[in-house]
Amino acid sequence: MNSALKQSAQKEQPAKTMQAVNKMLARVEISSEQIPLLAETAFAFKAPQHFIEQIKKQPTADNPLLKQILPVAAELDSVPGYSEDPVADLTFNPQPSLIHKYHGRALMIASPKCDIHCRYCFRRHFPYEEQVNQRHWQSALDAVKADSSIHELILSGGDPMSLSENALMKLIRLIDDIEQIKTLRIHSRTPVAAPDQAPRQQFLSWLKNTRLKVVLVVHCNHADELSTQTEALFNLYRQAGVTLLNQSVLLKGVNDNVETLQQLSHKLFEQGVLPYYLNQLDKVAGSAHFEVNDEQAIALHKELRGLLPGYLLPKLVKDIVGRSSKTPLA
Ligand SMILES: *Cc1c(COP(=O)(O)O)cnc(C)c1O
Ligand code: SF4
Repeated sequence: MNSALKQSAQKEQPAKTMQAVNKMLARVEISSEQIPLLAETAFAFKAPQHFIEQIKKQPTADNPLLKQILPVAAELDSVPGYSEDPVADLTFNPQPSLIHKYHGRALMIASPKCDIHCRYCFRRHFPYEEQVNQRHWQSALDAVKADSSIHELILSGGDPMSLSENALMKLIRLIDDIEQIKTLRIHSRTPVAAPDQAPRQQFLSWLKNTRLKVVLVVHCNHADELSTQTEALFNLYRQAGVTLLNQSVLLKGVNDNVETLQQLSHKLFEQGVLPYYLNQLDKVAGSAHFEVNDEQAIALHKELRGLLPGYLLPKLVKDIVGRSSKTPLA
């Protein structure tokens, strides 16, 4: 564990975490007696009200939304092959906040926090406190400017939409000023998990005027996460000219069956979003209980291909360190 995490672990009050978890469970009228929970973790329980309201009253063991946010004791299992930086972000880190792995595009960790803590998150151990701070923005953007091959900037996180709207606007205006950048891509779970908290006013009027092509890649793993509120928000963004895509993570007990994945693609499309990636889990310490092995993943994807039109079939990919892109598995 690095020092930043140790500090935040100390700051976190286990009793407070358990209180929040129990309050959430009571709200959704679910008892977690069957599942040993995790009281003490640096990666605390966190879920926005909207996401909690989408949770259906189902037993925890097969509750797809609850499992994504419930801290369970299995996270402490130490499993061979699982590590703190599974995709070697810190090896491709020319400047704090900047990760440059692939041709033509670079990724900026724009915010140190998320509105929701997904238990499988591959950046759950990322040293945000050392890496991510608004004072690094200018040097990260200078590094981008110094490399004329980069024409797309990806804002990732933490969740860029967890920044205040003013801070987000400041960053995207700085990016808009860089002539070589043609496309701004935002990777965010906020529009799905907390549509009421996603940026609206200044962001929408900026979208209508910017010369940039804007792509919003949302993150949704199950059709139950989509609501009338997400649909309304997607509509606003679409009307402002944004291309909307979705990425999911293939998660055991959440979406590892063909009906769930099929429904997800259809519901995304109903709401104006196209499936982009179905990511194989990055092997981050604490997430092994979510693993679907490659063989099963490929079999599922093959079955899915027989059920969906090509444009609703997400690409099944894996982040293999050292490759020049995400690796397609099927
Ligand atoms: C996944 C990823 C991207 C985006 O890859 P695309 O295939 O363009 O979606 C870019 N940079 C980094 C560091 C990534 O991990
Ligand atoms: S929203 Fe994304 S970055 Fe944030 S915890 Fe979830 S998976 Fe991780």
